Amino acid sequence: MSELRRDRITGSWVIVAPQRGLRPRMKSGSERAQKRLHFDPACPFCPGNEAQLPGIIAEIKMQDAPGWRARVVPNKFPAVQIDSETPVADGHHQARPGKGLHEVIIESPWHDAELASMSATELIAVVGVYRERLRTLLDHTDSAAAILFRNYGQDAGASLVHPHAQIIALDVVPQHVAAISEWAKRYHSDYGRCPLCEELGIECESGARIVDENAHFVALVPFAAQHPFELCLVPKRHQTSFTELEEIPAFAGLLGRVLIRLKASLGDPPYNFVVESAPRKEITALHWHWRLRLVPDVVTWGGFELGSGLPINPSSPEDNARLLREIDPGS
Ligand SMILES: [Zn+2]
Ligand SMILES: [Zn+2]
Repeated sequence: MSELRRDRITGSWVIVAPQRGLRPRMKSGSERAQKRLHFDPACPFCPGNEAQLPGIIAEIKMQDAPGWRARVVPNKFPAVQIDSETPVADGHHQARPGKGLHEVIIESPWHDAELASMSATELIAVVGVYRERLRTLLDHTDSAAAILFRNYGQDAGASLVHPHAQIIALDVVPQHVAAISEWAKRYHSDYGRCPLCEELGIECESGARIVDENAHFVALVPFAAQHPFELCLVPKRHQTSFTELEEIPAFAGLLGRVLIRLKASLGDPPYNFVVESAPRKEITALHWHWRLRLVPDVVTWGGFELGSGLPINPSSPEDNARLLREIDPGS
């Protein structure tokens, strides 16, 4: 069972989930070998290995074998659970049950598939499942916020090679989301504008940090990127929550192109992406504007970042954007 523990010194919360330590892990050095397998008999996400799954929540069907294009399954080693019990109090510390839902989206039946090389049809199916599951999980009566994320590569925290993303819904709004809310709310009340709409206007006019775009979305390196080659995919139209995403083919197309650019310029780096989207209570708030934030895992934060919470980006966002923009992602 999971619990949320509060640090008395910083006031920060942490999810303590010892059961996650039991996850199967790729053996060091085996990632490259595993990636070459089209089917892995030991992989719980490969077709035919359903007995290793805790269940199947939803499926996108297809006519060809194995009959499904994408699948949603419960996380076998969840960070939070809906029935987490109240932790036994020690009389000194603040702790609460780690309540929530933790799902895995298996993005392809093929072990060696990659978002960067998927067809338009495949990518559209994947993004469609992202939106549906985020809607469903955020709609749960116990949910306050839901985080959709993807860890790619062992160094970015992926414990399995098979292409997948995850969603964790919590009964509290996590600190990072609350901080974005608070900042944006204040900005909106001070200036009467959504900060991201305003930033987008400035970025599109300058073009210096724009990497790619289509009719509905822009991919850019943020002005104050915290990491080298950090990227944001932003809807051009003010849109509060990813659950409102309507232009799925346009978003899927841009995501695919950005991943191709990243792979070609940095040589297939590990990365994390996360959808920063309004918590449930603020789903109609004017100050929230969702974005997908992608961070390649190319530098490790050191002691200063740990001690100050102030990231040092050892690269230039403008140079990063130029390099990514100059790659030809194909049509
Ligand atoms: Zn697999
Ligand atoms: Zn906006």
